[in-house]
Amino acid sequence: MSFKNIKGQDRQINILTNAIKRVTVSHAYLFTGISGIGKGITAIAMAKALNCKAENGDFCGCCISCKKIEHSNHPDIFWIEPEGDYIKIDQIRRMQERIKYTLYEGKQKVVIIDKVERMNLQSSNCLLKTLEEPPPHTILILLTSTPYQVISTIRSRCQRVMFQPLSVELILELMIEKHGGEESAELELIASLAGGSLGRAMQWMEGGVLQERKELLERINLLNKGCVTEILDLAELLSKDKETILEKLDFFRLWFRDLLTFKETDRLNYLINGDLKNEVRSIAGRLSHSNLFYKFQIVNEAQLAINNNVNPKLSIETMLLRLCQ
Ligand SMILES: [Zn+2]
Repeated sequence: MSFKNIKGQDRQINILTNAIKRVTVSHAYLFTGISGIGKGITAIAMAKALNCKAENGDFCGCCISCKKIEHSNHPDIFWIEPEGDYIKIDQIRRMQERIKYTLYEGKQKVVIIDKVERMNLQSSNCLLKTLEEPPPHTILILLTSTPYQVISTIRSRCQRVMFQPLSVELILELMIEKHGGEESAELELIASLAGGSLGRAMQWMEGGVLQERKELLERINLLNKGCVTEILDLAELLSKDKETILEKLDFFRLWFRDLLTFKETDRLNYLINGDLKNEVRSIAGRLSHSNLFYKFQIVNEAQLAINNNVNPKLSIETMLLRLCQ
């Protein structure tokens, strides 16, 4: 294992390995980008490279330090993630208490905070103290898919590294590499729907997601003004699992994107939902361009509202009611 195993983020990896080689590593980084594209594994790779015996900006993966980091039991590496919905101030205080002492056995203490946007103001202000005056031999790597939700005083104290969504081709290649098998229409569809996230595609390989998407799209296509009970039921279903709400809304967004694309080009080969050609042809024929664009925007707005912590169920109810207009 080395940095070379992290695919699709060459420019970002170069920035980091060059900094390690030139000993110009920043005291704090903010890794941004959608989930499932390698922010976490790159942060762990950084921790390994900064502590490994190999001195080429990379890591060996087999020394005692690399192994301890891999198994999450290196005393100088700290991984923090939300406990429940939030990162609590006690978690930040516990980390501060531990990093103020000298190194246990490594060369560099590395604090990785995942989903850093889930800190409230109290935790954020507490973390700010460490960012302003980091103890010697300490670097912080903060990970987020929604950087605008991280307070500006934290953002401005970190060097930002923007991770990119992966291409459909790369996702497909990695899915086959990790799970075996051959390229198929189903895998290709999953890779296209995953929106650049390998993590999402891998999770979807476990099955059921394509059928679930089809059923949700059928329900949304049948909605009309009179079906308030159906709207409420669907909003209930969509908002039940907090972790997958945005994924489900992505199905709708890509669906309206496909309808719009077909309406605009009259060609079916640009579709992401390539298995639903007949449905696209029939529904796009019934709706106007402006109406489809309006529906696409409504889904976008609902996703934005949910990202900004508006009540998900309420946002989805509003979205569905507006889609019926
Ligand atoms: Zn090593």
